[in-house]
Amino acid sequence: MFPTSIAGSLPKPAWLAETHKLWPQWRAEGAELQQAKADATLMWIKAQEDAGLDIIGDGEQARQHFVHGFLEQVDGIDFANKVKMGIRNNRYDAMVPQVVAPLRLKGRVHAFEAQLARAHTTRRLKFTLPGPMTIVDTVADRYYGEGEAGRIKMAFAFAELLNQEALALQADGVDIIQFDEPAFNVYLDQAADWGVKALERAAQGLTCTTAVHICYGYGIQANIDWKQSLGHEWRQYEKVFPALAKSSIQQVSLECFQSHVPMDLMALLDGKDVLVGVIDVASDVIETPEQVADTIGRAMQFVPKLRVLPCTNCGLAPMDRAVAEAKLKALAQGAALARERWG
Ligand code: ZN
Repeated sequence: MFPTSIAGSLPKPAWLAETHKLWPQWRAEGAELQQAKADATLMWIKAQEDAGLDIIGDGEQARQHFVHGFLEQVDGIDFANKVKMGIRNNRYDAMVPQVVAPLRLKGRVHAFEAQLARAHTTRRLKFTLPGPMTIVDTVADRYYGEGEAGRIKMAFAFAELLNQEALALQADGVDIIQFDEPAFNVYLDQAADWGVKALERAAQGLTCTTAVHICYGYGIQANIDWKQSLGHEWRQYEKVFPALAKSSIQQVSLECFQSHVPMDLMALLDGKDVLVGVIDVASDVIETPEQVADTIGRAMQFVPKLRVLPCTNCGLAPMDRAVAEAKLKALAQGAALARERWG
């Protein structure tokens, strides 16, 4: 009951990469970098287990960024000539690579860290991939053409590649594959229209558990400012949840604690496991176990208790390492308290 997990990313140690950045520079290269990625992955597996989390992730220690880490292994993308592009409907600028030719995987993308994680935890293992719509929103296109038709075509091309890697991750022993789709909270009509279909294409044929994470972004200033512009009631989820409820995706990860998302929107996810965000990633204040348990209790008003999976609101990548460790413990302790209350 109430199995706990993180949304995906964790802070990279200072000896692996720059800290407090979404696109940090690595501290080493070649074999030395590969070893540092492995060490950081093992360090965070241990930290998650010690905190008491039930489902373990690799903390995304081996990828620079949750989208570009995938794109680095795709042929047809020009990483040498990045361009500045407004992403998430121009909420903030990013330097993004360009799609210049047909897309094809160069080989496995995440075999190294997935197999490493699998070999070093006996707990359930969750692995994250970017969703097709969010990829399309985080890369420049010079191949698929202008307008919505081009975006859809490119999204389904990426979905095929994601599907190849997801099937391979499943064969590596991953228990849960989660696609991250923050873009679903930005392009509401498109998400409900073709975003969910592209997501299902990415998850096609998987027999492991499938999940999608939809959030209001990392705790960076551009996102904090955006949230302040959204008013006192955030109803973005209302558009896409009915489409997800009808989809083959089994779990939905959403932002909850300290957000203005009306709790009753969770009722739209009938039949799905709901990963309820009980940990705020936009504040360094550590949640108390009571706060975490209270959020779980409020979610139980709209989701059957066996379908409530306590989680973080989003990734913790840009945070202080010590803060992230404390938040992992709060998550596990809060879930334990909830089990005492309602078990
Ligand atoms: Zn997120």
